[in-house]
Amino acid sequence: MTATSEILPWHRQHWQRSIERLRAGRLPHALLVTGPVGIGKSVLADQLARAVLCRAPLDDGRACGQCQACSLYQAGSHPDAMWVGPEDGSKVLKVEQIRAVSSRMSTTSQLGGHRVAVLIPAERMNAAAANGLLKTLEEPGADILLLLVSAQPGLLPATVRSRCQRMALTVPSADEAEAWLRQRSPQADVGLLLALADGAPLAAAALEGSAGLEWRRTVVEDWLSLLDGDAEPAAIAQRWHGQDLAATLGWLMRLLVDLIRLKCAGQPPRLANPDQREHLQRQAGRVHLAELYGHLQRLQEAVRLTRTQVSAQAILEQVLIPWRLGASGR
Ligand SMILES: [Zn+2]
Repeated sequence: MTATSEILPWHRQHWQRSIERLRAGRLPHALLVTGPVGIGKSVLADQLARAVLCRAPLDDGRACGQCQACSLYQAGSHPDAMWVGPEDGSKVLKVEQIRAVSSRMSTTSQLGGHRVAVLIPAERMNAAAANGLLKTLEEPGADILLLLVSAQPGLLPATVRSRCQRMALTVPSADEAEAWLRQRSPQADVGLLLALADGAPLAAAALEGSAGLEWRRTVVEDWLSLLDGDAEPAAIAQRWHGQDLAATLGWLMRLLVDLIRLKCAGQPPRLANPDQREHLQRQAGRVHLAELYGHLQRLQEAVRLTRTQVSAQAILEQVLIPWRLGASGR
């Protein structure tokens, strides 16, 4: 058993403030932890949950990792702690799950300390579930902590949002993110990983050496040969079929946005694909801005179609064919 992991450098201010309030007995009963994907919202929620339950916290407020409460938490069997997420392939947090939270929060603590529930991702609560949570938010018992973790808090009902205190986590500065990632992965191209992850350090770390990163390379290469007129859209669609369609469209979107940036700004300081600057610059010189906005519209439509019954092959062809037409018309 070990103490809780280190507090991520870009969370330190939020952490210290929370610990001070915990020690002063002034921790809010509901925190809405927000911020982009990949910056460690759930890590901080976990560290906070452990900290409020621990019987012998360290000087910096982190859980000791050794006491009875910590042992039970680590084993997933702390009677006063709950982690609630979508279950059994469902995409939503169901009302039954929220009822279980409310009931646990309204009964006495089993170990005599705080009762803690983490809802993640909180925006997946359906309307009935959100309603079910309102009573607990409006009449919270003593010593409860609800941690609602969400990258898309705008999807939560205003009635829920307004009853939580917001803890808005942000992407760290480029220097801080690079320093952290370099220490963790000395061999990695940290600049590229962070660019591909929109500056989110944990997302960048997860990309390193991943199949997703390898797949992105294939998408970039195929797309460039399509624009050069060296590949057929149907053949590419066939090859891409069966891969993660949302991820594929995401990589295409980043390439397209870079082309638009290059077209509008000439030498934009930052690209989403910094390793492709030369290739993208060359392509940007060959295409009209109006065409790019046409591609953007089709790509947005393709993203919408991923939620329908339309086949991946059809969606991909619809996106790829106009690029080929544009190339052959030059
Ligand atoms: Zn402990």
